[in-house]
Amino acid sequence: MKWSFRLFTLAGTEVRVHATFLLLLLFVAGDGFLRGQGISAALESILFITTMFACVVLHEFGHVLAARGYGIRTPDITLLPIGGVARLERMPRKPSEELVVAVSGPLVNVIIAAAIYLGFGITAALNPGYNFLKSGGFFEKLMVWNAFMVAFNLIPAFPMDGGRVLRAVFAMFMDYGTATRRAASIGQGLAMLVAVYMLLNATLHPMLLLICFFIFMAAGQEAAGVAQQEATRNMRVRDAMLTDFRTLPPDATLRDGVELLLTGAQQDFPVLDSHGGMQGMLTRHDLISALAEKGPSAPVVEVMRPCPDSTSPGTDLSQALDALNASDCPAMPVLEPGSGRLLGLLTAENVGETLMVHAALMKLRGSS
Ligand SMILES: [Zn+2]
Repeated sequence: MKWSFRLFTLAGTEVRVHATFLLLLLFVAGDGFLRGQGISAALESILFITTMFACVVLHEFGHVLAARGYGIRTPDITLLPIGGVARLERMPRKPSEELVVAVSGPLVNVIIAAAIYLGFGITAALNPGYNFLKSGGFFEKLMVWNAFMVAFNLIPAFPMDGGRVLRAVFAMFMDYGTATRRAASIGQGLAMLVAVYMLLNATLHPMLLLICFFIFMAAGQEAAGVAQQEATRNMRVRDAMLTDFRTLPPDATLRDGVELLLTGAQQDFPVLDSHGGMQGMLTRHDLISALAEKGPSAPVVEVMRPCPDSTSPGTDLSQALDALNASDCPAMPVLEPGSGRLLGLLTAENVGETLMVHAALMKLRGSS
């Protein structure tokens, strides 16, 4: 994630913090200080927030350790102001495994809250007359926070943990794609309902509205991701790559690029050296903006992007698409393994067209 910094590494998983999270700490401290509570109150607020987020990290480690048990790599956890995100290399596809991974996070908070409760019980037994419910102290607040985390995360709004539990349960009775669509619709419906309720009652809570928005977007994204995976299942890069394309030599100018752009439908052009090796990619966007800045006689090598990521024809299409989406190049070169010769280009438009054709043919086969 951009704008995040490594805090420490625990058991092979990096714990990172997003820059906006530090702003939250500053805000809490500043707020306490400005309300005339003094430095010690501000420090206490920071200590409590830090402990709260330590519980968030432990919650994420619950997911991480459960995922590892199924052989899934878990490179990092990132702390955001709205909570933590554990990055799993992939989601477990077996419903029972997803269920365990989803439940393991909130389970950690149940254990923390229970431990604090037990601690209070022992204290009360040793000191008759002690009533922790009236104390309002640090640990009591921490127990309430952990109970809140359990309740909040188990709201069945995909992609929250509760939504994942729901998807896993659905997937036991229907195919994975349909289960995801159902869980995502329920998540989006709940988010809409809460947002509409707030608007009707004119009780706009900015943080809650932000969470609704986040859930709505994330549910849609995850459903689209699964739909893409389902559509590209058993497909390879060679099934969807562009093989009829134009390239530019390293001594080409922007004028040559414009000529290619205007004579065909291709938008991004690989720049190849004299041995056919990939040097970079001239994108339509870069070409147009450089044209105004540098003029048509500027060499393309000054404008091209390095685009170091490449793929091979035999690679799983959905895996290559994830890499394409993560890179800042609109087209990914498909290289012949061994020789490194450029065989094709993988672009989002071409994959989209391939999938449409694929879907139409499936429909034809289904109706005949
Ligand atoms: Zn969780």
